[in-house]
Amino acid sequence: MAIVLGAIADDFTGATDLANNLVRAGMRCVQVIGVPDPATVIEDVDAVVVALKSRACPADEAVADSLAALDWLQAQGARQLFFKYCSTFDSTDAGNIGPVADALLERLRATETERLRATETERLRATVTERLGGSQTVMVPAFPINGRTVYQGHLFVGDRLLNDSGMQHHPLNPMRDADLVRVLGRQTPHPVGLAARPTLVQGGDATRRHLQALAAEGIRHVICDTLDEDDLAVLAEAVVDMPLVTGGSGLGQALPAQYRRWGWLDEVTDPGRLVPASGAALVLSGSCSRATLGQVDHFLERHPGFALEPLALAEGDAHLQAALSFARERLADGGPVLVYASADPERVKAAQAALGVERAGQLVEAALGELASTLVGEGVGRLIVAGGESSGAVVSALGVTMMRIGEQIDPGVPWTQAPLPGRSDSNAPLSLALKSGNFGGKDFFTRAFDVLPTGRPS
Ligand code: ADP
Repeated sequence: MAIVLGAIADDFTGATDLANNLVRAGMRCVQVIGVPDPATVIEDVDAVVVALKSRACPADEAVADSLAALDWLQAQGARQLFFKYCSTFDSTDAGNIGPVADALLERLRATETERLRATETERLRATVTERLGGSQTVMVPAFPINGRTVYQGHLFVGDRLLNDSGMQHHPLNPMRDADLVRVLGRQTPHPVGLAARPTLVQGGDATRRHLQALAAEGIRHVICDTLDEDDLAVLAEAVVDMPLVTGGSGLGQALPAQYRRWGWLDEVTDPGRLVPASGAALVLSGSCSRATLGQVDHFLERHPGFALEPLALAEGDAHLQAALSFARERLADGGPVLVYASADPERVKAAQAALGVERAGQLVEAALGELASTLVGEGVGRLIVAGGESSGAVVSALGVTMMRIGEQIDPGVPWTQAPLPGRSDSNAPLSLALKSGNFGGKDFFTRAFDVLPTGRPS
């Protein structure tokens, strides 16, 4: 069955954020990690989000990976493509938002021309949406409920302009200009236009006509104002049949209602339904963010935990083996148990001073990966990982390549399930919650297991 929405996300947590919003808006959704094998077909989903690592890499790599993702999503029959980036428009003058959007549009135009040639009926049908066929896309980064809004093309974070929000100090992509028309203008040789609020308040049809007028002038990229959810709904109505849209997960939240209006998407009662979870419960934490430290303390007041010390890990295998035996003993009756490297800034600094920042991080990440693959092989079936980098390390150690997105535990963090042939019970998927540093309430680790429906006893 063909999918409705195929998304290409420029980083892993951004992909999950979008996927989570799509499920909440009524789409069954799978996130894949990297571009799948061409033969891979995913069943029973309405949307697939391909997670790339294309935000900060060289632009030509980002373009190549994004085009590979586009080809695969088109082969899955995606009706609409969505290039997802951060709501703070994270990019530099070298890219990657402009070059990737240009390359995707060009590829779409090429495939569309081929399709037009294919049959006369196809040609007739295609003329209906010809205005948009690979010739124009919109840029909708805003995520109003998280305080990211756009007015007259200027991006705000809360009440600050982007270049005064802290983002001007970002280590990889300092955002020193809030005027997105200008920012994007430096990333593409093509003209950039604006769909401003006075147009949006006139509704979806007026906005659509405005986009068409801009397309007739040859304007390829249109930055869109967005102050609130109503603006997102208007934009979704105006662009629902555009082959490629781009933006943050706010737009993702607004599109599914339009897909239903167009009859592309059935009403699904429980889009985030997962199979009942099974297996022992483990938390691995490599995040030292403030929210995680609070979650670790809260968990340790109720359940057992083992503190991983980078300095001890550097001395040989004994420390990791001790962590494994500790966890095994507690997992025998189902857990939950926590193994954590999370530490306050002083202890982190001490470890980094002794080992170097990179090596301290690598030791922790390698240990978390090893713990995850060993313990999942021995029966862990419900796993929470705290930390963005830590999650990346665990997911690659486990060989996870796709995750079905379930219900949200806390804003932005859903339960997911990954088919994992390495599990002792290979028929049951691994239930996995990946939480980046500052997400989640204080009781996240305990509550997450409480809200996950389980089937068989562990
Ligand atoms: P977050 O999402 O909170 O930023 P990440 O997992 O992305 O968490 O990053 C945390 C980094 O800190 C990882 O590279 C991890 O290996 C490293 N780390 C974790 N614990 C320690 C520690 N005690 N000392 C030094 N580095 C640590």
